[in-house]
Amino acid sequence: MTLTIPFDNSYARLPDGFFARQAPEPVRAPKMIAFNEPLARILNVSSGDLQDMAEAFAGNTLPEGAEPLAQLYSGHQFGHYNPQLGDGRAVLLGETVGTDGIRRDIQLKGSGRTPFSRQGDGRAWLGPVLREYVVSEAMHALGIPTTRALAAVETGEIVLREGPMPGAVLTRVAHSHLRVGTFQVFAARGQLDHLRQLIDYAIARHYPQADGPMGLLRAVRDAQARLIAGWMSVGFIHGVMNTDNCAISGETIDYGPCAFMDTYHPNTVYSSIDRMGRYAYSNQPDIAVWNLAQLATALIQQAEDKEAAVEEATEIVHAMPDLLQDNWLRRFRAKIGLTRAEDGDLQLISDLLTRMAQNQADFTNTFRALGGSAPRDQFTDPEAFDGWAEGWQARLQREADPKATMQSANPAFIPRNHRVEQMIQAAVQGDYAPFHRLNAVLAQPYTDQPDAAELMNPPASDEVVSATFCGT
Ligand code: AMP
Ligand code: MG
Repeated sequence: MTLTIPFDNSYARLPDGFFARQAPEPVRAPKMIAFNEPLARILNVSSGDLQDMAEAFAGNTLPEGAEPLAQLYSGHQFGHYNPQLGDGRAVLLGETVGTDGIRRDIQLKGSGRTPFSRQGDGRAWLGPVLREYVVSEAMHALGIPTTRALAAVETGEIVLREGPMPGAVLTRVAHSHLRVGTFQVFAARGQLDHLRQLIDYAIARHYPQADGPMGLLRAVRDAQARLIAGWMSVGFIHGVMNTDNCAISGETIDYGPCAFMDTYHPNTVYSSIDRMGRYAYSNQPDIAVWNLAQLATALIQQAEDKEAAVEEATEIVHAMPDLLQDNWLRRFRAKIGLTRAEDGDLQLISDLLTRMAQNQADFTNTFRALGGSAPRDQFTDPEAFDGWAEGWQARLQREADPKATMQSANPAFIPRNHRVEQMIQAAVQGDYAPFHRLNAVLAQPYTDQPDAAELMNPPASDEVVSATFCGT
């Protein structure tokens, strides 16, 4: 049996300037690590025998209908414009239309050099591949828009990072890989025909109801506001919110040095390359607005009447902070059991977060305990919780079923960073049991799983991971 993917490619029909046709580079000894059956069913992908799939997901063989290409884009990295990035170690095999009618990209990541590789080797090592697999699938199970993982394979080759590491390839699935940077590259080069074509393509693919470039800007703004509020509500820190890692579809994309917070503090940063804390937890909404402003700047370039476009775009971008706040409030209201909106809610939530930060409260476990048991035990000074809970209890009187609201808004399980690191260390030794266990437990994050209690615990002092590295 051979792997079959019912490709229906559209990006490959765009003009040459949008991409470089590039086949994946074969690897020495492909070996299957994981294949995501439930996702494959949505994609109408039917599996082949194991070795056949390993060869295909490593890029050694091309499934029929694949038209591999590396996409061009640019972007602001840590606030500085880099005029040419592009897929330096990924190729888009093509697209499929799923059982749900949604068109999705199927991309190999770590599949060899491309014309956009610059100094890079075009490869990925096992650690980041497994991290992205676990964390993106967990994000999906949490109900937050994200790219997904269809497969992971070992390459049987060594990749040089901090030392020699086992190589791997991830098969990533996304509603598309269009980024803010995809628009920026054509705007910056003055390729207005390409820019207009890209706008039409993005609207048709993602936001068919959007009216022109400014309608697209509005739709991206709304999707990003929902996304960032989702991240904030589960304590997720992306780590590298550059404009090339900001998807037009509103999905979480490019899992690098990302992490979920254990102990709550708004200034938390994990990425070892983010020395200024630009992408700290609490900065993420502001950065999302900054990124949208970069998209606006790019979209304006194609307008006939620049002045009118600037005015409209400014208005759209300036409305984003309030939208972020609305989405954030909706998420955090649910986290403390509220479905109705009342004036004091923002104050109530902020007060809880302040006390959590002052008392080294675990973000996930504290919220889960609000709808479960013994939340006060999460605080170094439990009376700090009691002082808040009085007002909260009074507010809950006006809610019908706060416990149910909280249990479906507050996950019991997140991919804790120390568990992800332990999983990677085991996999490097050839033990994939922790990887499969993490995937299984994280597939149902809102369900109590008493036999997985060890995955709920915050790290012991010798397990704490304080930095995640970009040596991906
Ligand atoms: P990232 O930080 O993963 O979003 O990557 C930023 C840019 O660097 C993108 O254009 C990537 O394609 C490229 N890149 C990252 N790692 C490699 C690598 N090992 N080889 C080639 N290009 C890479
Ligand atoms: Mg990237």
